[in-house]
Amino acid sequence: MSNNKRFILSENEIPTAWYNIVADMKNKPMLPLNPKTRQPLTVDEMSHIFTLEASKQELNQTDRWIEIPDEVRDLYKHYRPTPLVRATGLEKALDTPAHIYFKNESVSPVGSHKLNSAIPQAYYAKMEGIKNLTTETGAGQWGTALSYAGKAFGIDVTIFMVKVSFEQKPYRRSIMQTFGGHVFASPSDVTSAGRAILARDPGYTGSLGTAISEAVEMAIGTPDCRYALGSVLSHVSLHQTVLGLEAEKQMDMAGEYPDIVIGCFGGGSNFSGIAFPFMRHNILDGKKTRFIAAEPASCPKLTRGEFHLDFGDEAGYTPLLAMYTLGHNFKPASIHAGGLRYHGAGTTVSQLLKDNMMEAVDIKQTDTFKAAQLFAQTEGIIPAPESSHAICAAINEALKCKEEGTQKTILFNLSGHGLIDMTAYDQYLSGNLHNYEISDAELKANLDELNRIIK
Ligand SMILES: *Cc1c(COP(=O)(O)O)cnc(C)c1O
Repeated sequence: MSNNKRFILSENEIPTAWYNIVADMKNKPMLPLNPKTRQPLTVDEMSHIFTLEASKQELNQTDRWIEIPDEVRDLYKHYRPTPLVRATGLEKALDTPAHIYFKNESVSPVGSHKLNSAIPQAYYAKMEGIKNLTTETGAGQWGTALSYAGKAFGIDVTIFMVKVSFEQKPYRRSIMQTFGGHVFASPSDVTSAGRAILARDPGYTGSLGTAISEAVEMAIGTPDCRYALGSVLSHVSLHQTVLGLEAEKQMDMAGEYPDIVIGCFGGGSNFSGIAFPFMRHNILDGKKTRFIAAEPASCPKLTRGEFHLDFGDEAGYTPLLAMYTLGHNFKPASIHAGGLRYHGAGTTVSQLLKDNMMEAVDIKQTDTFKAAQLFAQTEGIIPAPESSHAICAAINEALKCKEEGTQKTILFNLSGHGLIDMTAYDQYLSGNLHNYEISDAELKANLDELNRIIK
C-alpha cells in the first residue's frame, strides 16, 4: 500500500474507451419502449429526439467497450484525469481503521461530473451536422455543462430552466449564459407547450416536467436540432464510466482494491460512473465489492420505490422505462440537493438493483450537511449537497469498520463542489434546515396512481 495522498495519472492515461456494462449483464435491462406500441424503440425512432450516436449507444447491449473519439479525449484533457485522493484527514477525524478514497470530479471547469457526458453529446451533434441542442435544467449543473461543451463544438445550446430556480438562483443562470447558453425561464412564450400553460396560469413558476416538454418540443420542431439529457439514460451512464476506469488505475497505484464503492444517486449517472468499472470484476472475476447508491430520504425511489414501467418525465413525453420509481407524478420536496430530486432510476441501475448486484441507502438532509461540514474541515473541499449523500454513506461505513474493528477500503465519488450552494450551507449553519419525511400512505398513493395509468 502506498502512503501518498493524491494519485495522479498523466493525460495519455485517459481511457480510450467507455465501459458498457450491459454487454456483461446476465439479465439485460429492458430497452426503452414506445408508449403507444409497447415495442422497443428503434434507433430511427430515438434519433428523431436524440443524436444518432447517443441513440445507438442507448440501444447497444452487445459491445463491452465503446471507443472515446479523439476530439472528446482532447477536451477531457482540460480537466482529466481527475485526482484520486486518500481522505486521510477524514479518516483521522473519524478514528477509523478504514481507508477512505474519493475520486474528485469537482475539479472540472463546471464543477461537476456532468461534463463527462456533455462533451461527447455535443461532439456527436457536431459530427451529425446538428446546429442546436436543447435541454432542461433544474439546479443548473447540466445546463452549465452542456453550454460549455456546446460552445467548444460550435453548437448553439438552449436551456429551459424551471422558472422558480431562474428567479431564485440568478447566478446559476448567469453561469450558463457566461458559457454561451441561451436560457429561458420555463414556462416560456417560445413554445406552444409553454404558451398554453401561461395562458391558463400566467403566474405558474414551472416544473421539470414543463421544462422537458418545452425542450423536446423545440428539438422536434426545429431543423437540425436535437435534445440532450444529462442523467438517467444508459448512454449517459456509459460516458461517466471514464471516471471509474481512471479510479481503477489509481486504486492500483495506491496498491488497494475497494471493498465498498459509493456514489450519490439522482438519475444514476455518477454512481454508474464510479461503480460499473469495478462491478465488471464482480461479474467477470468473482470479486466481492459492495456497491452502495446513496439517495435522499425525501426521494427514495431505490429504497422504497417500485420496479415498474414509467415515464422519464412528469409530463409523460419520454419513452417508457423499466425502472425503480416513485411514479412520474411524485413531487419531491425542495431539498438542496436539486440534482437528486428525480422520481426514477435509470434502467441499467434498476436491473442491477433488482438482481442484487448493488445496494441502496437513504440519507436525511441534515445528516448530509453534517457530513459535508466534517469533510470540508478535514479535506478542504466544500462538497455539493448531492455529493454529500455519498460522503455521509462513506462515513457511516467507516464508523461501522471502527465498531467491528475491521479494516476496509472505501471509495466514493465526489460528484461536484458546493461553492454555488452556500445559501444551503447558510441555512444549515443557522439551524434552519429541515428533513422531509414521506409517509407510506403518500408513497402508496403515488404508486397506486402509476399502476392505474400504466398497466
Ligand atoms: C446532477 C448531479 C448529481 C445527480 O445526478 P446523477 O445522474 O445521479 O449523477 C449528483 N451530483 C452533482 C454534483 C450533480 O450535479
